[in-house]
Amino acid sequence: MSLRRSRINVYLVMQYSPSSFSVVKAQRLIVPCLLGVLLLFVSAAESAAPYELRSWDELSDQDMTALGRAALRGRPIRWVHAESDRYIYHAANRRTLDRVAREVEWADAEIERRLGLPATESRGRWFVVEEERVWRRLIRMSGGRHDGAAVHLGNELFIRRDRAHDLNHIDIPHELVHFRLQQAYDNLPLWLEEGLAQWLGWELAKTYQLRQGFSLHREHEPIPSDDRLSWDDVLLRTTYPRDPGQNRAFYRQSSVLIEQLAQRLGPDEMGAFVQKALRHRGDFHRTVEMAYEWSPDDEADFFERVEAVLWP
Ligand SMILES: [Zn+2]
Repeated sequence: MSLRRSRINVYLVMQYSPSSFSVVKAQRLIVPCLLGVLLLFVSAAESAAPYELRSWDELSDQDMTALGRAALRGRPIRWVHAESDRYIYHAANRRTLDRVAREVEWADAEIERRLGLPATESRGRWFVVEEERVWRRLIRMSGGRHDGAAVHLGNELFIRRDRAHDLNHIDIPHELVHFRLQQAYDNLPLWLEEGLAQWLGWELAKTYQLRQGFSLHREHEPIPSDDRLSWDDVLLRTTYPRDPGQNRAFYRQSSVLIEQLAQRLGPDEMGAFVQKALRHRGDFHRTVEMAYEWSPDDEADFFERVEAVLWP
């Protein structure tokens, strides 16, 4: 395990919480006949489980952090466990584990392909936490905030399954983008990593839900002008803002920045953009000027478009 992988990082996916700024809705599609046949074909092709169930004693690796042990509440024998080549899974029941593992395996391969990432060297470990009490304890132990719906610490990924609201549709791909980027690169600037997790996480969530027959929609509440961050602040930050309004603004501004960049450069270019940005020390301006030959007018035009989306 490299130093990089043992480093503790906490990412709270605040925008997913009901009290926060983005509302996500899933609508069941009235499936036209042809698409229905296609979906049936896809689900038949996916019926083989991409993991193997294991008892606790059969798991190839039982080593986990104090946070992981806290999630299992010292009673791993009561949990359902499984492993694949890339991940180990722990959930309260087989049905939840199956849903999570299938989405993780699919999204993981997509992220690798779309961002041109090398295969992972070490396995990640997923915990699906259902009990409110346990979740609160995890948030406390990780030093995070209460309204997060997912926590990522080193190789361990925790998502919350709220019994009333079930799993959140965008936690898994979002957290996976963070996880895979951290495995592949050191020192990715915060705006780039969070922006990619927001943009690609959402794209993958929509695609995956569509394959299940659901169409995902979300609405963003406008960012109050007092909370808006300067672009220098967004692009130079190394930590998330503590102020909840500014935190919200940071997520949204980095998200729209990357979304517009993907539109401008093409989504297939984003993996190469990450590498080019790292060659220019994560400096957005230098990267677009040196690697993409943007003029000052191109940049001004780009930020104008970004701001037109953010505050129409
Ligand atoms: Zn994130």
